[in-house]
Amino acid sequence: MPNNLMSTPEHELFRETVRKFVEDELRPRAREFDEAGRFDKTLYKKMGDLGMLGLRYEPEYGGAGLDWSFSAVMFEEIGRCDNAGVAMGISVHTDMATPSLAEFGTPELKAQYLAPSIAGDMVSAIAVTEPDAGSDVAGVKTRAVRDGDDWVINGSKIYITNAATADWLCLLAVTDPDAGYGGYSQIVVPTDVPGFRYDLLDKIGNRGSDTGQLFFEDVRVPVANTIGDIGRGFQQQMMQFQDERLVACVQAMAQAEDVWEETRRWAEERILFGKPLSKMQNTQFKMVEMKTKIAAAKALTRDCVQKRVDGEDATELITMAKLYCGRVIREVADECIQLHGGYGYMRESSAGRAFVDSRLISIGGGTDETMMQYLAKQLGF
Ligand SMILES: Cc1cc2nc3c(=O)[nH]c(=O)nc-3n(C[C@H](O)[C@H](O)[C@H](O)COP(=O)(O)OP(=O)(O)OC[C@H]3O[C@@H](n4cnc5c(N)ncnc54)[C@H](O)[C@@H]3O)c2cc1C
Repeated sequence: MPNNLMSTPEHELFRETVRKFVEDELRPRAREFDEAGRFDKTLYKKMGDLGMLGLRYEPEYGGAGLDWSFSAVMFEEIGRCDNAGVAMGISVHTDMATPSLAEFGTPELKAQYLAPSIAGDMVSAIAVTEPDAGSDVAGVKTRAVRDGDDWVINGSKIYITNAATADWLCLLAVTDPDAGYGGYSQIVVPTDVPGFRYDLLDKIGNRGSDTGQLFFEDVRVPVANTIGDIGRGFQQQMMQFQDERLVACVQAMAQAEDVWEETRRWAEERILFGKPLSKMQNTQFKMVEMKTKIAAAKALTRDCVQKRVDGEDATELITMAKLYCGRVIREVADECIQLHGGYGYMRESSAGRAFVDSRLISIGGGTDETMMQYLAKQLGF
């Protein structure tokens, strides 16, 4: 019985489109992308043509003007692509780097960067984390100093997904060091400007998308590239994190279901002591326990999606879901690799990839501890 997050006839029609794309273009190449350490950029154009890259964005810029429920459907399917790194690269573009531009950008900036991003002609990245500022977002030091009509940017960012693929960055920079939380701005930085470069990083997992360190040396971009008001960057980024975290939950649970199904197939085929692994009570209990945890995490995720659809503040619930889904996928991936025995430890095994890839959910987009710190405050501690 499928336990889809959303399933009206319209959702199912759209689901079919995404599923076909995943089956035709992503799943067969899951291992190839892992080996290459990056995703095939030309597939963004195909996704753009299928209308997958601007689901919630305004039709004026090529978007579909839909609500969050369709994003949930899309990432529920993309999460089953057998490569969490690929899923992450795509979601960084659609839901982590572009939401602020869509919501706060000027019409000119949206025409220049959002429209081609929705069409799949440009790919974006979100550049927040720095070598000395990850969980402590307010500790970022990358500086944008105004010089006439330009920003001059100096600094460095680290662990940035799509570093080598991106055509532009949604950069969080300090624009007024004396203004506290009013001293940050989000700025669109094209990656073909003089003074910008990146170094790729070698990750243990999530290898289907590239990740790098970015360097800015007197990079000049127009002040008109500021997203929203100058000085509102920190607040806008906190809002943008909500989409990032909810997409991570949707993808993680899709991956959990995918690796669970793969493990069931494996357990039915693997014969030991004269009978299938699936006939052992330990296997059945583990499978049931995993399924229960996934169902609970999906129910929480579904509540978050509904709140977003209803236009309610979902921050607290999304924070809980990010914490919980991160833990559930880690537990599921761990049990699945165990049930595979030695084969699970091979790089070609989906369970093995899920094991290393899923570890990221409790770190990226804010760690478990950051989620708990926020929730403790909300709960009055
Ligand atoms: C593969 C990958 C892709 C990424 N992609 C991007 C991207 O595209 N863009 C981007 O901007 N960033 C990206 N990140 C960065 C990610 O968001 C950060 O790694 C994360 O926020 C944690 O920051 P940090 O690495 O500096 O860890 P730190 O902040 O140094 O944390 C170290 C430890 O301290 C803990 N800690 C933090 N606060 C507290 C507290 N209050 N109490 C107790 N313990 C605490 C943390 O939970 C962690 O366990 C990516 C990271 C990875 C690994």
